[in-house]
Amino acid sequence: MIVAIASGKGGTGKTTIAVNMALSLRKHKTVQLLDCDVEEPNAAIFLNPKFDAEEEISIPIPSVDNELCNLCGRCAEVCFFHAIAVLGNHVLTFPELCHGCGGCTLFCPTGAITEKPETIGTIATGYAQDISFIQGRLKPSSTATATLIKEVRRRAADLDAVLIDAPPGTSCPVVASVNKADFCLLVTEPTPFGLNDLMLAVDMVRTLNIPLGVIINRSDENDDIIKEYCGKNDIPILMSIPFQRQYAAYYAQGIPLVEADPEWEQAFQNLWDDIERRSR
Ligand code: SF4
Ligand code: SF4
Repeated sequence: MIVAIASGKGGTGKTTIAVNMALSLRKHKTVQLLDCDVEEPNAAIFLNPKFDAEEEISIPIPSVDNELCNLCGRCAEVCFFHAIAVLGNHVLTFPELCHGCGGCTLFCPTGAITEKPETIGTIATGYAQDISFIQGRLKPSSTATATLIKEVRRRAADLDAVLIDAPPGTSCPVVASVNKADFCLLVTEPTPFGLNDLMLAVDMVRTLNIPLGVIINRSDENDDIIKEYCGKNDIPILMSIPFQRQYAAYYAQGIPLVEADPEWEQAFQNLWDDIERRSR
């Protein structure tokens, strides 16, 4: 089963949930964690995996032969990402904006465009204890975030539990991470900003037709703001992690909650069982 862990905004604790769930399940299930937060992958800080392979991921970007080009502008018309433009007597390409879709090459009427590979990032694979671990890391100058995430997802194994640590937000990279998951956990915090971003994330996940549940992280006396919204919208709250200074200290030291406080292990196993029941 594939479970995506996402949040409408950064810093809510989705990596904490993904890491602790992986560690809690590994004794009873085969587990894989995909770190799809490719602009800032940090699950490895907590899992300390041993990587045994790292591959560069490239996309084909256009290269224009000015001798063959008739300046018709068709390439610029079909490029959704504005990565190619006709200016005066020249066709300019912007590799950092290109997503390697091949559209410009396909539609060029004179065969003036050929493709050359451009690195967009890396994918590292390895193990953290007995958890299969895959991490995507985007090259800083690249905007092909969703393309790299799809490559990470393509490497998912057929295991009992495949956990996806998605990027924050609700844009294309998040959709690429969450799409076709069996269930989506949305992590939020009990603040007005948390609620606003949760609402956006719920809309996105429901548009994708994926069953979902909410986890309240840093739960406190303000939880009602989240509970009221979830109640009205028939969204189950599957776990609450209380706000505790000690938990923040574990996080700052890179110590997973279930290792510092093993009582949480059973809670995460129960959470998985609950998700399985709701996904049937
Ligand atoms: S390959 Fe696709 S994204 Fe890149 S320049 Fe051509 S049309 Fe645009
Ligand atoms: S589509 Fe081909 S011929 Fe037309 S402007 Fe672009 S590169 Fe030149």
